[in-house]
Amino acid sequence: MVHLTIDGRSIEVPEGTTVLEAAQDLGIDIPTLCYLKEVNVIASCRICLVEVEGSRSLIASCSLPASEGMVVRTHTPHVLHARKKVLELLLSDHPFDCLTCFRSGNCELQTLAREMNVHGLQWEGERNVFAVDDLSPSLVREPSKCIRCRRCVTVCRDVLTVSIYETLQRGFDSVAGPAFNDSLQDTPCITCGQCILVCPTAALHEKDDTDKVWQALEDPDMHVVVQTAPSIRVSLGEEFGLPQGELVVGKMVSALHRLGFDKVFDDCFGADVCIMEESTELLSRLKGEGGPLPQFTSCCPGWVKFCENFYPELIHHLSSTKSPQQIFGALVKTYYAQKAGISPEKIFSVSIMPCVAKKFEAARPEHQDSGYRDVDLVLSTRELARIIRMSGINFADLPDEDFDDPMGHASGAGVIFGASGGVMEAALRTLSDKLNGYEMEESDLEKIRSFNELREAEFKLGDRMVRVAVARNIGEARKLCDRVRNEKAPYDFIEIMACPGACVGGGGQPIYSNLDKWSLQMDLRRSRARGLFQSDKEKKYRKSHENPHVQRLYEEFLGEPNSEKAHELLHTGHKARPLYTCEGSFAGDKVEYRHHREDQGWAH
Ligand code: SF4
Ligand code: SF4
Ligand code: SF4
Repeated sequence: MVHLTIDGRSIEVPEGTTVLEAAQDLGIDIPTLCYLKEVNVIASCRICLVEVEGSRSLIASCSLPASEGMVVRTHTPHVLHARKKVLELLLSDHPFDCLTCFRSGNCELQTLAREMNVHGLQWEGERNVFAVDDLSPSLVREPSKCIRCRRCVTVCRDVLTVSIYETLQRGFDSVAGPAFNDSLQDTPCITCGQCILVCPTAALHEKDDTDKVWQALEDPDMHVVVQTAPSIRVSLGEEFGLPQGELVVGKMVSALHRLGFDKVFDDCFGADVCIMEESTELLSRLKGEGGPLPQFTSCCPGWVKFCENFYPELIHHLSSTKSPQQIFGALVKTYYAQKAGISPEKIFSVSIMPCVAKKFEAARPEHQDSGYRDVDLVLSTRELARIIRMSGINFADLPDEDFDDPMGHASGAGVIFGASGGVMEAALRTLSDKLNGYEMEESDLEKIRSFNELREAEFKLGDRMVRVAVARNIGEARKLCDRVRNEKAPYDFIEIMACPGACVGGGGQPIYSNLDKWSLQMDLRRSRARGLFQSDKEKKYRKSHENPHVQRLYEEFLGEPNSEKAHELLHTGHKARPLYTCEGSFAGDKVEYRHHREDQGWAH
């Protein structure tokens, strides 16, 4: 333990604690900007400067270890002056379009400027103006708003192991971006959007598609239906000041009805159908038919793209079952269209997702097996909140309403799809009933609900033991893929979701600008997952195959799981995608980079 004094107050902390953490323990709020504890502690922004007795210069407290006898002052006039100058220098190279900016009202830079009483700038001069990259269907980069905090760099590299960003250029011109400042569209970005959640400004944000939904809702010839993903019901309330993870499903349905959607359906119904197809596929593989083991889940488009980009030799392990979103979309344009007597070309299918990768997935050209796009438009949780606010709907006071028939009723298994381990658990509930003739114990299934580590378990299914694993994020998936590639992964079935904690922590979920610890971000995801498991407990049916609406779908339309019709509409293929690499070499006093893409060869 070490003893130090901060602002005249003594504290004892374990060795290795930083001055910032010690101050936080005392309830002293030192402002930060680039800091994201456990992920990004690089002391680059200099906002957390403090005065330390005996030191002639101010020191960044986020990376300064507390030491015995240290005397620290955190808010002296000298410190405040220095922090303010640092902030003004950052602001002097910022676009100042706060009135129309995506993060207006939720921008860490803006909040700091207010808290530090910055009004007007002393320095006017050159500003960097970089092109906006909006070619990706999922993300937009506005590099002129980048404050070079590197949070996106470390999260993408260290948590996800995708490594899209680096700091480009040097000095005043530096900015975070993909190699060669390429468009994200041309990189192996898996479009998970985790970088958006940690970016303190609007340098990274989702592609906003709200105008398109208004156009559809205004069109009198269009029948507009909407599906809502499981995890929206435990996060949307947060956008309106309700507690983290509170279940707001009834209010959400009510808001969507008021917005003018003709039918409000539950994507968890699609998740139930996904389990019917995916578990049947697993049974075939366990019998040695239909593909190699382990079978990978395929409901997360971020993970699917990761596999296509980085492990193309493993794509045959991916389940051919489409994701719940795409299954639902295909059924809306066929089953529902037929039942409602509406031509599919007059149906506009919207999905509300916690995810920006779902925008990419909906745009995949292969996803139109009915002859029409499975899903016409994807909105994130944040975009839905935006259109609710625009409509003047008082969300918190809305009465609860029910989803519509015939695709609005799901089992609890469909609901837990949004939490890590949920897809595996949903599949095991069905497989145990089918193969063992009894329900699995809840305590056994809880073994695979994990936020902290790779989960592995073995379950008896029929006459054999089935070995399963759940990867909590794409970084763990990489390790698992390496093991599968080297034939050192003794599993039959693996669930992989790209985002840490799965969709409850998706890149389209509400952004908090005050969570300066990665573990706090994970706590938030846990609260949402608890909400989903609570909702599961309250459901009349908790297994996908017991959902009477799913049974009717198979009786009236699809026949059997994995039938020819089900295959045509609900299954898909995956393809290897080009991955680029780059090399640098000295040419005189400059580094010359060569850039290689498998589809285009080498380029300078
Ligand atoms: S893009 Fe955002 S997160 Fe990345 S360095 Fe710039 S400001 Fe930071
Ligand atoms: S969307 Fe995901 S993979 Fe793409 S740059 Fe951001 S964090 Fe990296
Ligand atoms: S884990 Fe969920 S939110 Fe994240 S990329 Fe996958 S589907 Fe989207």
